[in-house]
Amino acid sequence: MPRVLLLLPTTTYRAPDFLEAAERLGVEVTVASERPSTLERLNPGGLLTLDFRDAEGAARRVREFAGSHRIDAVVGVDEDTAVAAAAIAESLGLTHNPVSAVRAARNKGLMRQRLLEAGVPAPRFRLHSLDDDPERAARTVSYPCVLKPTFLAASRGVIRADRESDFVAAWRRIAAILDDPEAARRGGAAAREILVEEFLPGGEVALEGLLERGRLRVLALFDKPDPLDGPYFEETIYVTPSRLAPEAQERIASVASSAAAALGLVDGPVHAELRVGAGGGEVRVLEIAARSIGGLCSRTLRFGTGLSLEELILRHALGSTVDGLDRESRAAGVMMIPIPRAGVLEGVDGIEEARAVPNVTDVTISAHPGQTLVPLPEGSRYLGFLFARAQTPGEAEEALRRAHAALRFRIRNERGPSLRSG
Ligand code: ADP
Ligand code: CA
Repeated sequence: MPRVLLLLPTTTYRAPDFLEAAERLGVEVTVASERPSTLERLNPGGLLTLDFRDAEGAARRVREFAGSHRIDAVVGVDEDTAVAAAAIAESLGLTHNPVSAVRAARNKGLMRQRLLEAGVPAPRFRLHSLDDDPERAARTVSYPCVLKPTFLAASRGVIRADRESDFVAAWRRIAAILDDPEAARRGGAAAREILVEEFLPGGEVALEGLLERGRLRVLALFDKPDPLDGPYFEETIYVTPSRLAPEAQERIASVASSAAAALGLVDGPVHAELRVGAGGGEVRVLEIAARSIGGLCSRTLRFGTGLSLEELILRHALGSTVDGLDRESRAAGVMMIPIPRAGVLEGVDGIEEARAVPNVTDVTISAHPGQTLVPLPEGSRYLGFLFARAQTPGEAEEALRRAHAALRFRIRNERGPSLRSG
């Protein structure tokens, strides 16, 4: 039986889906995570503790391990594990992305620089250090602009500024996020950086792809029908297939492919986000990451006779072809349920009504009662996920909106009475 090494950070939403995919494919799994488990001694082939931030150290540790347990593929499930996955695959002689390419994809400043050098259309930018003077920086940019950390995800710390005073306020807010010891630990030197970009207006799409020897296979293109104009950029609805004209979709695929090439990415899943000008004309890259779609969003996707995205990724990593495994022809959508306000979650009502909305296939509340909810731009988790499948993208979108409207979140102020939020 082939064995795959899964790099699963403790915060990932993806563990069950990857484990289920491995089981369906009949492959053995070794799970690597950051926290030592007491079960490791009972199951020496199945569990491994790695420090994902120390890619070289992780690669050494896995080489040792592979002496007694042959490893056929390495899969990092998210951005925090992508660099370690590439370094491990390299040291085991498995197909992989160059470590330098994954490092560039991991840091938004480095990514912008590579895209610029390769002439890939993307926003103008300037990389700042937190030691710079924000008042002075605010006078040197054009507005509107977007400020962001270089290594976080889920729109955490991404803030639009329309004038100098917004800029300085956004800067201070990001500095506070980066000051958090956990952020500083994860980001290392990047936790001292702030990226400032030209704000790109227009629609936004997300492209889910798989690189095979440098060739980009588009697995799905999602429209994001809610306007993303800021000042914070809450991810909500994703719907596939895209309703953009075929020519616009081709342009998007071609720009995404040149972005992957600019970074040097050649293998495995990529998730790209692009802005599309009016009429599908100008396509510009917001980002391209060496990982698959985040959260539970992959559950919208079914390929071939019903394979999951995780099965596709594992098959590819094990050297099997994914030829002919196209996405089903039905429309599908997901809504990442945003956190409406700060507080403590007491409960969620209306779940059954939301489930009963036609074309809604699942309602998953991932936040738990008692959990402290932190909205954007400081927060990074969702309340949960709504899923729909329908004949058309419009119907899938409509179902998600109706399901969301049926939900009522009881959120208690950290101190004080509980208020209803819908
Ligand atoms: P993250 O890695 O946290 O997702 P992104 O850089 O992708 O960070 O930004 C999150 C969202 O913020 C994007 O999906 C987009 O909607 C918005 N955004 C970010 N940068 C820009 C920009 N330069 N112009 C317009 N919107 C932007
Ligand atoms: Ca993004």
